[in-house]
Amino acid sequence: MRAELASELERLKARGVTPGLAVVLVGDNPASQVYVRMKGRACGEAGLHHETIRLPKQATEAELLAVIDRLNGDPRIHGMLVQLPLPQHIDEHRVLLRVDPGKDVDGFHPSNVGKVSIGDPTGFRPATPYGVQQLLLRSGVDPTGQHAVIVGRSNIVGRPMAALLLQNGPGGNATVTVCHSRTRSIGAITCQADILIVAIGKPQFVTGDMVKPGAVVIDVGVNRVDDPSLKSGYRLVGDVHFEQARRVAAAITPVPGGVGPMTITMLLYNTVQAARQWGDR
Ligand code: NAP
Repeated sequence: MRAELASELERLKARGVTPGLAVVLVGDNPASQVYVRMKGRACGEAGLHHETIRLPKQATEAELLAVIDRLNGDPRIHGMLVQLPLPQHIDEHRVLLRVDPGKDVDGFHPSNVGKVSIGDPTGFRPATPYGVQQLLLRSGVDPTGQHAVIVGRSNIVGRPMAALLLQNGPGGNATVTVCHSRTRSIGAITCQADILIVAIGKPQFVTGDMVKPGAVVIDVGVNRVDDPSLKSGYRLVGDVHFEQARRVAAAITPVPGGVGPMTITMLLYNTVQAARQWGDR
């Protein structure tokens, strides 16, 4: 997918457009710092212009909004995102509303949430579920007519995942069930999934007996668990018990790997989409 992106970038560059992404990071959350670095590196490798704006954790909401206003007006920046989570004294909703919907490559502005929900292709699809959809399609897994069970209903993953799989078009047309923390007998539901997508942030929550034989399992979760045998003292595991589930599933994504690299790739796609659409405005 990155190679395909390269040819589109060349076409844009021939028209004098270099897509640009700005990432705003407030504070020093270690995981956020890693994600922001990875996004910057991916932009560099792909040939996109990128800027990372770092604000101290005590930065005020007004200071953050001023940075967003500046980026909204910057012609070199086609896409921007504010890395979440934000420090508690900043109102996340107000911040996400301030991002120009035409530059909102995370797809968190209500305008894009609405567009994605009604299947308007000019809307920005949140990168993680967009990546999951592409992962399915490009692995030859057509969701059409399949029962997709999504565990987790966050605005970042679960809800937009459901919207994408419900759409009447390629990568959609699934029958979608969404489970969350109040769902009863969750294993009885996950066992019915032809496609099982798990995004809850609970290490190895989905065990082998919760997976239907032959299902396709997408593990979105990224969790640190203690592992004294490693120098770092921890290792990353998903929300699915990989060793158990792989014996039952037809296909399964690993953690790390799998969904994570797709998320970054789709962010690049969204930035290129933003640059293309900016030219069309
Ligand atoms: P989140 O905002 O914390 O949402 C978690 C969701 O899981 C909520 O809807 C919650 O239900 C549900 N949930 C929690 N415990 C549950 C349980 N025991 N049974 C059923 N549902 C349960 O998390 P998120 O942002 O969606 O992220 C989920 C995971 O994906 C995390 O591990 C995160 O690190 C990972 N992630 C990975 C990527 C990537 O690129 N690889 C991107 C984003 C997120 P309620 O709504 O009822 O509380």
